[in-house]
Amino acid sequence: MFDKILIANRGEIALRVIRAAREMGIQSVAVHSTADTNAMHVRMADESVCIGPNPSSESYLNPAAIIAACEITGAQAVHPGYGFLSENAGFAQMLEDHGITFIGPKAEHIRIMGDKITAKETAKELGIPVVPGSEGGVNDVDEARKVAAEIGYPVIIKATAGGGGRGMKVAHDEKGLEVAFRTARSEAKAAFGNPDVYIEKYLQKPRHIEIQVFGDGKGNAVYLGERDCSLQRRHQKVLEEAPGPSITEEERQRIGNICADAMKKLGYIGAGTIEFLYEDGEFYFIEMNTRLQVEHPVTEAIYGVDLVREQIRVAAGEPMELDQDKLAINGHAIEVRINAEKLPNFSPSPGKITQFHAPGGLGVRMDSAIYDGYVIPPYYDSLIGKLIVHGRDRPEALARLSRALSELIIDGVDNTIPLFDALLQEADIQSGNYSIHWLERWLSENVPA
Ligand code: ADP
Repeated sequence: MFDKILIANRGEIALRVIRAAREMGIQSVAVHSTADTNAMHVRMADESVCIGPNPSSESYLNPAAIIAACEITGAQAVHPGYGFLSENAGFAQMLEDHGITFIGPKAEHIRIMGDKITAKETAKELGIPVVPGSEGGVNDVDEARKVAAEIGYPVIIKATAGGGGRGMKVAHDEKGLEVAFRTARSEAKAAFGNPDVYIEKYLQKPRHIEIQVFGDGKGNAVYLGERDCSLQRRHQKVLEEAPGPSITEEERQRIGNICADAMKKLGYIGAGTIEFLYEDGEFYFIEMNTRLQVEHPVTEAIYGVDLVREQIRVAAGEPMELDQDKLAINGHAIEVRINAEKLPNFSPSPGKITQFHAPGGLGVRMDSAIYDGYVIPPYYDSLIGKLIVHGRDRPEALARLSRALSELIIDGVDNTIPLFDALLQEADIQSGNYSIHWLERWLSENVPA
């Protein structure tokens, strides 16, 4: 096992990894930008290294600075968290070349899944059902028209290099196709430096269901059920729950086994998430994330496992402790993402936290790196905390969420707590009756504040 690992991230996810390391008796090294000198991950780690100025491009996204920090501190492995360099195959390769272990999948698998077209082709070859769409990329409007006519409108045009819900445009008919195609390409170019797009059937009322998988890199792999992440704003997740309110045990086993078998064939190592749209009893692959997800705690809650500990174990070459026959679901869990954003427009709201009180009690987990007097810098993501509740069943989890939200105090910056207070009043949320479009529609009619 490693003696010391470095966490190439910040915020709540850096704390998450430091906590797992400490429980395993492993020393932790935090890295930080100058803006984060007083951040909680720096305080909580055993050691810290400043790796550059405020912009993430010059700090958290700078592989050379991170490798230098490993060399200075003697860290043997790097946990990338999510975001930043977590899905950067070049970074994983660079670490390996320096004799440092990347706590994550093989560079080759990151590369395959990082390009949405090769990801979809690979998924298909591995027996995973995919959304009907173009065979590979679509380069001009005439080809786009032809493909769209074949699959039938509406269609969605998506960036090959996409991520974070950006670079996607819907065309409802042939009239709208040209504009959608051109805008998707220019947005993709601006956001990812790559204008390549592909076309998919646009599903009308699907749910976003993702399967957690885990492999040991030696041909063993398991699935840990699904998470329903349908509550989204601008294709970004807002609330996640497990198990999915609409998924039966039979469906879970069917799609779970398909995913686990695919990971066995691939020789996948570590945590991964296979994302699907789910409509009328069918699953359609959209992408795979080769890292730990923001919403992993709901899976941890219902299966009683520590996914980060498992990631560290398999990266160190130890056997995977997860055994499909022993994995059983216990109860229901819900996570809400608390962002420093001002409603109703969700505009970023950095600044000083004047008062913070975390909820507690049975079945409540608060993953956050904020504290009284902490100043949220304007340079990074607006996620400032995740509140996760676990109950014996969904009604109990909902009641617990409502209770925990009533205890949670974050003063000084605008945040998304009022959104969840309002959502819990909705019959569709109480019954679990929502698709990926539910929240956008609700937000267009309601003004939470
Ligand atoms: P990203 O990598 O940017 O997150 P995804 O491919 O994971 O992009 O898609 C994000 C979200 O966009 C999905 O959860 C869903 O809400 C929507 N979406 C993507 N593809 C489709 C589709 N074919 N039909 C309908 N909605 C889609």
